[in-house]
Amino acid sequence: MTSKRIARPPEGTQAAAKSKYSELHDIDPNANNGLQNASGSFVAKLLGDPTSDKIKPLIKLADVGPFKAEGFKFAVESLKLIMSEVEVKYPELYSRITNDGMRVVRKIKGSSSPSLHSWGIAIDIRVDKIKDVRFNDKALYGLTLLAPIFHKHGWYWGGAFRDKQKEKGVYWSNEDAMHFEVSKNKLLEWQNTGLLKSLIPAKLPPALAVPKPSTSKKKVNKKAENGLKHPLAAETSAWHQKDHYNTKRWNIASRLYSLHRFLRED
Ligand SMILES: [Zn+2]
Repeated sequence: MTSKRIARPPEGTQAAAKSKYSELHDIDPNANNGLQNASGSFVAKLLGDPTSDKIKPLIKLADVGPFKAEGFKFAVESLKLIMSEVEVKYPELYSRITNDGMRVVRKIKGSSSPSLHSWGIAIDIRVDKIKDVRFNDKALYGLTLLAPIFHKHGWYWGGAFRDKQKEKGVYWSNEDAMHFEVSKNKLLEWQNTGLLKSLIPAKLPPALAVPKPSTSKKKVNKKAENGLKHPLAAETSAWHQKDHYNTKRWNIASRLYSLHRFLRED
């Protein structure tokens, strides 16, 4: 099967640079290696409806260094750490970056999927007050310097978003270099360390619910066997072999699963 990549019209015209930090540079296509990006549906499962009251106590406005940002509490905390590193490593760049939006409940442009901005776990950043133009496969120099620091803290860079499928076998650029978002890896880390407890439903998900008693014991057991899906089944293939802590999380889940099955044996 062959696939081809076609040029996509950049979204507007790039403003002239005001310093070396707002000059256009090439993008490292491997900038996100080691991280996975989280889909809107994955985040919805983990953090719930972005408009619900449940998430509100976890939304916070704070000074993160070069600017104020309002977003998901743990993302804002992570931004503070990122910015303190930027200040030490690139003090001039630090004074030239501004926030172009963190928590904005919206869909991804041209898609029905919610943007990660909806939960306040993504941020858009300007350099020299200049907005990086999307889809031109180039990035403001300052953004290319920020990307490795964000990466170190588990954030996925829009500059190296994977190409978007335009139609079957035809791809075009999905580059959005001003955009940084919390990776799937980081979200799972938050969940694994219990930071998302207040958002986890009190009721067990249906996969773990004990089936109703039935007259035929044999049948019940068979049914239970079939109906009892591993709670993390969908997540296994991609990250199981990747990450140390994910492997640990897997082991814990597997033990819980075995214990659950054990308790149901009668
Ligand atoms: Zn964005």
